[in-house]
Amino acid sequence: MDILITGGAGFIGSHLAEWLVGDGHGVTVLDDLSTGRRENLAALEGSNSLVFVEGSVLDQDLVRDLVGRADVVVHLAAAVGVKLIMDEPSRSILTNINGTENVLSAAIPGRKLTLVASTSEVYGKATKFPFSEDDDLTIGATRNLRWSYACAKMLDEFMALAYARDSGLPVVVLRFFNTTGPRQTGRYGMVLPNFVQSALAGTPLTVHGDGTQTRCFGHVRDAVESVVRLMREPSAQGQVFNVANDQEVSIRGLAEQVIAATGSASEIRHVPYDSVYPVGFEDMMRRLPDVSKLERTIGFRPRRPLSEIIDDIVAEKRGSN
Ligand code: UDP
Repeated sequence: MDILITGGAGFIGSHLAEWLVGDGHGVTVLDDLSTGRRENLAALEGSNSLVFVEGSVLDQDLVRDLVGRADVVVHLAAAVGVKLIMDEPSRSILTNINGTENVLSAAIPGRKLTLVASTSEVYGKATKFPFSEDDDLTIGATRNLRWSYACAKMLDEFMALAYARDSGLPVVVLRFFNTTGPRQTGRYGMVLPNFVQSALAGTPLTVHGDGTQTRCFGHVRDAVESVVRLMREPSAQGQVFNVANDQEVSIRGLAEQVIAATGSASEIRHVPYDSVYPVGFEDMMRRLPDVSKLERTIGFRPRRPLSEIIDDIVAEKRGSN
């Protein structure tokens, strides 16, 4: 099959490209290299199975052309990361809404199977745990721009599901939770690569707030395996899935685990949220996924433990230091 991955030079996209080429597929990557990097695709450099196109999902003609030639589309291109969203809110909103609109409308004529990346951010401040796909979504006030990301991604989900109903477009919505592993950059705020980098450099690990907020971290390879299995599973079409590992850890606990795994002498430093984010920033205290629907549908769920995720990131960063 020929598979188009938008955002394929990004963190998840590049791992997915490698997996699909390894499975014998032809992969076309569309990426504007805003946050993605050519080096992420280094392992596929020179492969006849990879075509790299530098361009934007906002370029309608280009998207129409590439989608037209593909059998399946995985739409990962987006402005991601809380820091980037807070730094460039209007550009992020437009990329996330118009990019998805371009991809979906290009997929309609050939009824191309399209997997659309969404995010656990859409659950927002929900207080019923764990988060299931059909739960109500609760986000904050518009003056807190953080929520623009959740809102744009919710609209992406609505668009995908509406096109599925109106035009019979086969779609699958992927709600990625905190996905991490080698190649994730800390530049846009993601906590684990930042902690590992600090631990290896012997500088303080900065924990926002008191560190009792929790997250569930999934290994990127587990996320990619989930995507590949969902792509092959007809009963997944028209559905929304949490793509996540459900082992929960506090951010303070995460910092302690990184220090132990690296043998670092770094200290853990707590910093108030308003020293890192604009005033009015709201963090999520807990984010716990229900992954039973994913497992029921594809017979697989992300299970790689946090210790393995940390070790893989440490090995990568040690190698590049
Ligand atoms: N965080 C932290 N130190 C950092 C980066 C992030 O304490 O250097 C916290 C952040 O405030 C949040 C959690 O770690 O509570 C996860 O942050 P990340 O940006 O990785 O993901 P998200 O907020 O989207 O879950």
